[in-house]
Amino acid sequence: MAGLLAGLVGWPVAHSLSPALHRAWIAAAGLDADYVAFAVDPRHAPQAIAATPAFGLRGVNVTLPYKELALSLAGDASPTARRLGAANVLLVGPDGRLHADNTDGVGFLAALEGLPRDRSRPALILGAGGAARAAAFALIEDGAREIRVANRDAARAKRLAADVRGAGARAIAADWAERASAVLTADVGLLVNATPLGMNDQPQLDFDLANLPREAVVYDLLYRPRPTALVARARAAGLAALDGLAMLIAQARPSFELFFGRPPPEGVDLEAILAAKLGESAPA
Ligand code: NAP
Repeated sequence: MAGLLAGLVGWPVAHSLSPALHRAWIAAAGLDADYVAFAVDPRHAPQAIAATPAFGLRGVNVTLPYKELALSLAGDASPTARRLGAANVLLVGPDGRLHADNTDGVGFLAALEGLPRDRSRPALILGAGGAARAAAFALIEDGAREIRVANRDAARAKRLAADVRGAGARAIAADWAERASAVLTADVGLLVNATPLGMNDQPQLDFDLANLPREAVVYDLLYRPRPTALVARARAAGLAALDGLAMLIAQARPSFELFFGRPPPEGVDLEAILAAKLGESAPA
């Protein structure tokens, strides 16, 4: 068995790219380490996740549906994880206790770097789940002054908007039916799809891009298929657009450093490695 072991817990995890991603970094760094995906049955999830230290793991990444559970099982948590109410990293401390963190917001912002974007314009986020929440708070830390949230469940959109106001930014909770209306979209600098709509096996996101200004950046947090239909439509309309693969890689960087005690090695073309894997697993 490898010297240092970390992993991923979720249900399901069979299609996760995280093992390929971390293993590419492990190999390039020449580490005696491994990263394994654990499909944790919901009937055993609290016991299994709490037992992370007992199995000799340095820590685990946590994906759906266990991000809230992971936070509740941790002995302590970073301010970011506490504010988001969810953890995507559990690190085993020297005392054997679990420390919770959340790197989704860091990854969300890092992936946006390099794209020309007017930060003074409002951002419109579709969805109000964990990814939307991480995106909203990351944008506020990045200086956003106004966040608009459109979500199928209106009460959830209102809760997120209230929390955005509590963090010092203006917020609008919009009806899902109004998501592409001119009043919501005509002045936005960033559109974020934080729903699964458009992912393989899911219905398409119904969103007319016509009202967006030419300067707007379209950010689809999905990466299956590549390009997503939203990214393809945005690019065809002349808008800057990116999918969620860069975010996936960027949110994994701090996890790798926490687990293996060093930053990921430079010079590994993970976008190419993961894009090739996505190509392999895409339905015919
Ligand atoms: P989540 O907490 O379960 O939230 C899902 C969100 O999508 C909710 O706002 C939900 O609305 C909405 N939604 C689901 N089905 C819908 C439908 N049929 N019509 C309209 N809205 C619908 O999930 P999450 O963690 O936020 O993740 C959201 C997406 O982001 C996922 O697809 C995930 O793959 C992606 N993501 C990507 C990365 C990355 O690194 N690229 C990281 C995190 C997440 P309701 O509140 O009305 O249910």
